[in-house]
Amino acid sequence: MTDYPHLLAPLDLGFTTLRNRVLMGSMHTGLEERGDWARVAEFYAARARGGAGLIVTGGMAPNQEGGVFPGAAGLFTPEDIANHRRVTERVHEEGGRIAMQILHAGRYAYGPDCVSASAVKSPISPFTPRALDEEGILKQIADFASAAERAREAGYDGVEVMGSEGYFLNQFLVRHVNRREDDWGGPYENRMRLPLEVVRAVRRAVGEDFILIYRISVIDLVPDGSTFDEVVRLAQAMETAGVDILNSGIGWHEARIPTIATSVPRAAFAWVTQKLMGKVSVPVIASNRINSPEMAEKLLAEGACDMVSMARPFLADADFVAKAAAGRAAEIAPCIACNQACLDHTFSGKVSTCLVNPRACYETEMPVVPAAEAKRIAVVGAGPAGLSAAITAAGRGHRVVLFDKAQAIGGQLNMARRIPGKEEFDGLIDWYATELKALGVEERLGVEVRAAELAGFDEVVIATGVTPRDPQIPGQDRPNVLSYIDVLEGGAEVGARVAIVGAGGIGFDMAEFLTTGESPTLDPEEWRREWGVADPEAARGGLAPEGPRPAPPLRQVTLLQRKAERPGKRLGKTTGWIHRAVLKMKRVSMRSGVNYERIDADGLHVSHGEGRERPELIEADTIVLCAGQVPNTALADELRVAGIEAHVIGGADRAGELDAKRAILQGTKLGLAL
Ligand code: FAD
Ligand code: NAP
Ligand code: SF4
Repeated sequence: MTDYPHLLAPLDLGFTTLRNRVLMGSMHTGLEERGDWARVAEFYAARARGGAGLIVTGGMAPNQEGGVFPGAAGLFTPEDIANHRRVTERVHEEGGRIAMQILHAGRYAYGPDCVSASAVKSPISPFTPRALDEEGILKQIADFASAAERAREAGYDGVEVMGSEGYFLNQFLVRHVNRREDDWGGPYENRMRLPLEVVRAVRRAVGEDFILIYRISVIDLVPDGSTFDEVVRLAQAMETAGVDILNSGIGWHEARIPTIATSVPRAAFAWVTQKLMGKVSVPVIASNRINSPEMAEKLLAEGACDMVSMARPFLADADFVAKAAAGRAAEIAPCIACNQACLDHTFSGKVSTCLVNPRACYETEMPVVPAAEAKRIAVVGAGPAGLSAAITAAGRGHRVVLFDKAQAIGGQLNMARRIPGKEEFDGLIDWYATELKALGVEERLGVEVRAAELAGFDEVVIATGVTPRDPQIPGQDRPNVLSYIDVLEGGAEVGARVAIVGAGGIGFDMAEFLTTGESPTLDPEEWRREWGVADPEAARGGLAPEGPRPAPPLRQVTLLQRKAERPGKRLGKTTGWIHRAVLKMKRVSMRSGVNYERIDADGLHVSHGEGRERPELIEADTIVLCAGQVPNTALADELRVAGIEAHVIGGADRAGELDAKRAILQGTKLGLAL
């Protein structure tokens, strides 16, 4: 008997049956463009072996003008087809099924040759698209059909036609972009002509016994988006046109409402997909922020959908389904929806991987090889660096003892998890705890390790993290000054008016912590009110007419930095805008280019510019120092003096630009090498 009867139930599509209700959603890996097909094949093969019911590839361009960026991968030549065949063969060898996504970016294509319904530039692209003429539109349809035909030739089991997220087909559907007055614009009947013609042409090209998924935008989250009546009309027309499955797309890329970040409540948009249930007879897939088998099972059991799409969870753990099926769900490495190593990498032109699982997309470069001899290894520090080193080494057969002076594992993740919207870190710490037990790592908590205790181990790993940087502001020893650790770990009292010194990742988190009460991430209704999400049946595109209505801030906060640049400029590529928007909603005053002169009972005295001009008092009851971190090398230094060799990783090695991603990568690499 399984805990997940709905999730593991097969899905009968008539001409074929999928082994379960889990779709691995489309993700761009960046490997295809690098021509690294052995890696692509192993990446997907691992997910097929791990039990995904149906895999959808990253988006493949149907033609040059539709590529997300110049040179984006597509199935253009016989060589491309041969490369893709390597992927499909490996997936089939592992018992999996794989569909190729056809992605035409339209005006989101990052190049001067981009095309769309009308010459309306997107706010997230510098390029104004060329409005297609009739001949141009027919060419695009034909290109979709040939891409699908080639996908079949390459051995794929199906294709997904990307019609959501504000891409090309979505652009024709709404007046937001489609200003045409010919047969492809104007009334909805005309605006939906292009996606429908594409699907009809694809169906004709591939025949009846080939999976055809259409990704439909169920809630656009942009002004002038589709009404829900229009969504239903399109869904029904798609069914008639021959799609086998409808997958949900949530929000355009230019939407100013987060849709997949960690602060978005789990399964936040499944209720929209549920509205389609019963309106069509083909299976409907729910998507976005579903990252556990429990949640997936619940959605299926409640009838919110027929299948569940999870994309990033398959980066975090290729064996998601296999572990759930084997009753080992607690061992699934959780996707914490941080975007730090997946989407942020994609948007920086790097290969996608995963903060939690740095082997994602590096399966062939970071193989796990059992240790030739089992060594006795001491790991000091149970933050992400030490934890990943410990479990990786133990997984290879070493005997590992893990020390931490704290009573609990997790290191700074224990502070991160207290920030509203970062609750997913709880699950990550739980997962490490499960792994430590499963792998037999001996835990010695509450022990501040000194060099003498480390003699006798075959290898010593120092992962003692960081200490806060001392900003040396006159008056900082006053009782009205706290460090981020006092606030987040010590629960120190904070006054009504606060000045935060330092606007890095921790300064931003602190401002969110001090201005927010109950986390909206744990209260979906409040979260929708905060961001202005409405029922698309009541409001076009799902945008609340009254706009965002955030709860008032708990405190009056000023966030300061010395650099003259815009605060938050260096935050995550795909999530920085969310943090900036939240602080704006919480009326946090952000100040750049300041010098910290002194602190007294009235608050923080600053001046401006290199000449230390315009003295100013930031009135504050409490000043919180978030001025960065420096390596904690106390133990490493002691070992050096004692002549004990050690591997130093994570913050203890280098504190500059340290985050959990780097700590885990370094710990994992060391764990593989010991
Ligand atoms: P740490 O996590 O600092 O762990 C070091 C451990 O060593 C501690 O548990 C400590 O008790 C132990 N230790 C030290 N000396 C000894 C000794 N002598 N004996 C025994 N034990 C010892 N990063 C991200 O990537 N994404 C985020 O969203 C994010 N948010 C954050 C939010 C906040 C509020 C904070 C504070 C940090 C956040 N970070 C985030 C940063 C991330 O947590 C750190 O980069 C990461 O934890 C560093 O890992 P580490 O293992 O090197 O060190
Ligand atoms: P940080 O991001 O490096 O920011 C440090 C801040 O302190 C900066 O604003 C800096 O700005 C200021 N500062 C530096 N030296 C100072 C000095 N001598 N006096 C006064 N101010 C000084 O570091 P952090 O905020 O401590 O975060 C630590 C790490 O955790 C970072 O690497 C970060 O990436 C990671 N983290 C990540 C996230 C995330 O969401 N991904 C969240 C939290 C933390 P000025 O020099 O301009 O004053
Ligand atoms: Fe999930 Fe973060 Fe890994 Fe991306 S990097 S897959 S969001 S845990």
